[in-house]
Amino acid sequence: MKELTSSQIWQALESVKDPEIPVVSVVEMGIVRGVEVDGDVVRVTMTPTFSGCPALDVMRREIETAVRQLGITNVTVETVLYPPWSTDWISDEAREKLRQFGLAPPQKHGGDLISVAFLDVAECPRCGSKNTTIKNSFGPTLCRMIYYCHDCQDAFEQFKPL
Ligand SMILES: [Zn+2]
Repeated sequence: MKELTSSQIWQALESVKDPEIPVVSVVEMGIVRGVEVDGDVVRVTMTPTFSGCPALDVMRREIETAVRQLGITNVTVETVLYPPWSTDWISDEAREKLRQFGLAPPQKHGGDLISVAFLDVAECPRCGSKNTTIKNSFGPTLCRMIYYCHDCQDAFEQFKPL
């Protein structure tokens, strides 16, 4: 049984994409909280993004599969709900990928959600304009809001800050 380092596991988990947003990995999204390696036993902890998002089981399976592909058979994936996932955990690199995907990344709030939750302005991922207004706070999923860019004259989605 070969032994792996936790950094090798982290690297493998980069291949697991967020099922909702396939351009970013579960590591970049801050979903994977920890990796512990104890001999040939691997324990991964993860925190789901939005409880309303149905992707938890999919992610758990894919994380398990990615670790098994390294030759590890004894792998457990545990869900940790505290502290709750925050959009502040999304890496800067992932924010740029979200923008290129056409999804405005959530504002960083540093724990002060009240001040960003009611902002009705988001930056358009296409042209960078802040000349936008909120169209509908109930986007296609619980995770997203729909905005309208007055410069592009088109709608875009923003990842809801959490
Ligand atoms: Zn625009």
